[in-house]
Amino acid sequence: MNYNKKSIEDIEVAGKRVLCRCDFNVPTKAGVITSDKRIVAALPTIQYLVSHKAKVILCSHMGKPKGEWKPELSLKVVAKRLSELLGQEVIMADDVVGEDAKAKAAALQDGQVMLLENTRYMKGETKNDPELSKELASMADIFVNDAFGSAHRAHSSTAGVADYLPAVCGYLVEKEVSIMGKALANPERPFVAILGGAKISDKLNVINNLLEKVDTLIIGGGMAYTFLAAKGYSVGNSLLDESKIDYCKDMMVKAEAKGVKLLLPIDTVVADSFPSPIDGPVDVQTVAADAMPEGKEGLDIGEKTRALFAEAAKNAKTVVWNGPMGVFENPTLAAGTIAVAQALAESDAITIVGGGDSAAACEQLGFADKITHISTGGGASLEFLEGLELPGIACLQDK
Ligand code: ADP
Ligand code: MG
Repeated sequence: MNYNKKSIEDIEVAGKRVLCRCDFNVPTKAGVITSDKRIVAALPTIQYLVSHKAKVILCSHMGKPKGEWKPELSLKVVAKRLSELLGQEVIMADDVVGEDAKAKAAALQDGQVMLLENTRYMKGETKNDPELSKELASMADIFVNDAFGSAHRAHSSTAGVADYLPAVCGYLVEKEVSIMGKALANPERPFVAILGGAKISDKLNVINNLLEKVDTLIIGGGMAYTFLAAKGYSVGNSLLDESKIDYCKDMMVKAEAKGVKLLLPIDTVVADSFPSPIDGPVDVQTVAADAMPEGKEGLDIGEKTRALFAEAAKNAKTVVWNGPMGVFENPTLAAGTIAVAQALAESDAITIVGGGDSAAACEQLGFADKITHISTGGGASLEFLEGLELPGIACLQDK
């Protein structure tokens, strides 16, 4: 995949209708936005378009309405917040590609901004239906993709529309692609990847591709126990994907054959059960990885493992990290995640963190400003790091 894509600065936008795909999939509670981070992050691109006199047509998905008109997933709340942040009106369309949206798009003046309704109100969106893509394209002259978090999906508003319009990236996508693209195309070595978290089935699949690229692969968090089981250890009640045990065995063989160092936990913090509430009190003990007692659940990496992982991260020149090392939401189970975050913060390496919870952990623990790049896309950053082609980026014009 070519990582050198044209951006909004490489195309004339003045007087043009610009359809800009943003990530306005913000968390809400009872109709109120609980974090406007994603809206704030979109401002530089929108402000550039406004100040360069484009007619700006924004679009995004929110949640998973699955083609149904669910009022609680309307983007109206986003239009309101965005207009406060921009200091100008954001015209809200009543539909996505209907009469109202088209009339409002046609009436836009230079420098005005409008927002279409939730793209996933349309059944065709997630099917990348060419009819919907054409309808979206019919409202604009240029397509800008600034939604990195959705770039791994081939949907009408993320990729399909680029079949009918000149397509470039916004600042958010440009930053993601240039930093991660550079780190991957020709990584400074040693190149270390650290995987953890709880979405084990998704993430285990990444390993096959990562083994082609990295010098060291570190596995912690909930993912590690399937590997430990593949080594023949009993893992008590820990997270486990039994269907992936053979796969993990294959990956250990592959790592060996490729000369990739595969680091697994050598000790683990266990408790009687998962804490409830998640940040409530929990009694823990640390045991060797090959001596986990029956009936206990592994919830963090142990002290020896922390030192082992931190050492590998510190000696790296490029580190990518996705997924916490333990149940970091609980202070008693956060030490593993803290150790890794701290090692990244103290390392001189190019450090890249992807994944919602890993990014949250870095921020919560106060390490965020010492990380080279915290990606806004969980799934997208993982696919990117695997070297897969992301449809929302591949569709953009090369420089
Ligand atoms: P990310 O959002 O960074 O991609 P995931 O969503 O895959 O990461 O996983 C994050 C979650 O994994 C956290 O809520 C954390 O509590 C959980 N987790 C980490 N280690 C374990 C473990 N050993 N057992 C159960 N859950 C874990
Ligand atoms: Mg997560």
